[in-house]
Amino acid sequence: MKVVCILCDRFFEPDRLQTKKLHKHPHRIQICTECHDRISEETLARQELHSND
Ligand SMILES: [Zn+2]
Repeated sequence: MKVVCILCDRFFEPDRLQTKKLHKHPHRIQICTECHDRISEETLARQELHSND
């Protein structure tokens, strides 16, 4: 099973957890692990910036 990442428009193989979610919520937005990691890093960086405020 392949899904398209909404951020980079590339096909990727969802992991087992994502596949499970896809069956339950077929319309859920999918993000590949690469983009997910990038977002997590950006979110963490932002949180750090915010905590320094
Ligand atoms: Zn992606």
